[in-house]
Amino acid sequence: MKPIPTPREYTHSGESRPLTGLREIRMNIPETGETVKLGLAMLRDALPVTPDGAVLTLVSSDDAWFAARNAAEQGYILTHDGGTLTLAARQPMGFFYGLMTLLQLAEDMPETFVIRDRPEIRWRGVMNTLWAESGIMSYDFGDGLPAMEKRLSVLLNTCARYKLNLVYADAFGFRHERFPGYDAFMKRFTDLAKIRGVRVMAGGYGMGYGQSGHGQNVFMGKVFRNRDPYPDGELYDCIGTYDPPNPDIRGRSYGTCLSDNALTDDKIDEMRQYLLATGVNTLDLHNMDSDEIHEPLWLARCERCRKRYPNDSLYAEDGCAGAFAAFYDRLLTGLRESVPDVLICPVSPGYAYAVRSTDRTFEKCRRFWGAVMRYMKCRDGVIPLFRELFHNHDDNRLRYDMLDESIPSGFGSVFFSGGDGFYSDKYFVPSAVVTKTMERAELIVCANGSALQRPTQLMNAEYLWNPDGSAFYNADIPDNYTDFMAFYNAILATTHRPEGLYGELLETACRRLWGDTDGAVLAEVYRIHGARYECPVFTVCSVELYTRRTRVTFPIRWDDPSAEEHLPQMRARYAETVTLNTAARSRLFGVTAPDAEFLREGLAVVSELCQLMVRYIDAYRMAAEWFTAGVPLEGGFRESVRAIVDDAEAYRKRLAESGRTAVDPLGGAIARRDELFDLIAYNAGLILQSVETNMRIPENRRPDVTRQWW
Ligand SMILES: [Zn+2]
Repeated sequence: MKPIPTPREYTHSGESRPLTGLREIRMNIPETGETVKLGLAMLRDALPVTPDGAVLTLVSSDDAWFAARNAAEQGYILTHDGGTLTLAARQPMGFFYGLMTLLQLAEDMPETFVIRDRPEIRWRGVMNTLWAESGIMSYDFGDGLPAMEKRLSVLLNTCARYKLNLVYADAFGFRHERFPGYDAFMKRFTDLAKIRGVRVMAGGYGMGYGQSGHGQNVFMGKVFRNRDPYPDGELYDCIGTYDPPNPDIRGRSYGTCLSDNALTDDKIDEMRQYLLATGVNTLDLHNMDSDEIHEPLWLARCERCRKRYPNDSLYAEDGCAGAFAAFYDRLLTGLRESVPDVLICPVSPGYAYAVRSTDRTFEKCRRFWGAVMRYMKCRDGVIPLFRELFHNHDDNRLRYDMLDESIPSGFGSVFFSGGDGFYSDKYFVPSAVVTKTMERAELIVCANGSALQRPTQLMNAEYLWNPDGSAFYNADIPDNYTDFMAFYNAILATTHRPEGLYGELLETACRRLWGDTDGAVLAEVYRIHGARYECPVFTVCSVELYTRRTRVTFPIRWDDPSAEEHLPQMRARYAETVTLNTAARSRLFGVTAPDAEFLREGLAVVSELCQLMVRYIDAYRMAAEWFTAGVPLEGGFRESVRAIVDDAEAYRKRLAESGRTAVDPLGGAIARRDELFDLIAYNAGLILQSVETNMRIPENRRPDVTRQWW
């Protein structure tokens, strides 16, 4: 099997055969450290000491090739010549990655080869979280902290083997000990990550706190407010979220003042406590939720900010950019005292979108962040993050290339890449294939690659390391905005399924993750799709089922007649899911891989949910027609609706008795299970009530709990 990720330069000749053992490992390097020791231990586990085995020599190298991008830090040169293996590198991570490549090659190693390898993207990340960067721990299957922790350690080994070095672990907010045992668990996790060269990222706000409007236990941190004097004085307004065309500036008192050092220091204190307690060393720092930056945001600043930063310009040092630069300098300086390797990744205002941001808006974002980074004193610890951006709409220039001109200190991407819990919940999304449009980024964290998307992790590993030299598949990526978006959207929607991605690469990824037999079956499961490219669904909380975590409580409420128009489309989706889930489940029968049990169970629970949804929608339509057109109800209607209530409640009881309880306050991978079955029972009950009282909207309804951002 070919290695993942594909090495940057790989020439080989002669026959390939398995490397069955090593005779000796010679360490011609001064000192090793834990990372290299771990790599050697992993190699020794796989390859016994045999008298006729190969000799591996580790050497420091001054080869000029190490001047290439990221080569000195993470690159290596690995050569094999008739039983003599040489691994040359400059830094521990280079040696480690060379050893990881050798581990993969050992299965089938050419007689002679030369590999020169380095990553194009310095920090290459996947997300644990199901709800994009907002939270829900995907490895929490509701079977307890030790089991989740074990799965997360498998994730870290996957990262090590396939050269991913960033895990977005948790969100949103910096409250430590957010459940009993959290700090200690995170500390163990980050310790394992550190040895593997993996940064652990957590997300929260630097100001704004919009998500705190979602209610209890969604935002995991303190909501800071502007107060004069801080912390007990009167609330006051300063800058806030400005999201045109909405003319309002929102959240203006939510910790947004950039001139109050006492407020900033209090935020630093919460972050510091979190970092020290958990060992997390990378912060995804949302500052408000403004994807664009425009003058009204800055013109809304308070009197004190006006005095300190009198310039109304977004880009001036004594204006908006200077104020943000000073804020990040203070954050970084404050945190570095306790956590020397801390990396801050600010997101917004002005992270920009591929589609929504016009060229003019993007230019403002680029100019603003260019100015912020220019004014900063400690810019080496800050990497501003943008969304996936691709081409300018009019002149088709690649926006990441443009950012590279404006922000030479480095920038990154939170790549909402499909399967992200916001736009889609497809389980296999090879969208990282477009990384070459973003190759000037220093950091890319894909908003996918969760516990249920492990093959996607390896797609990300392949293309974030080597964006355009894959041995499996290289997309012919259109060089203009319109054609590119058509290509990209087809990849996201999984309607475009190149054989290179869905065939050999998916197959290889699954075999590496689960072994030959189970891997082949899981590759089939991740390929299953419906007539309109629906996928099997493993979690009750899912964009695919209109049951995403954000904004929607129940997709088709009986007391909201506007839902009616969506019924046919939703019924079709639920019915299709039952078919696809049944097919996927039957394929998984007999698969012994540790993930398979939960995947099977997830498919069964979602099937049950979707069957009930189909019955509920049918009842909804009949009752609605009775109310609107006087179409008589069939005999037995009430009994059939009663049965929906009873079946939903009975299944809910069964789920409760199954004993799965998430430690994640947001519910982990079993999020919304109880809630959705309850909502079906409740809404079916409302239909009965309406029919019995002859009132389309029944009285005595529960208050709606629609989640609002603010
Ligand atoms: Zn202010």
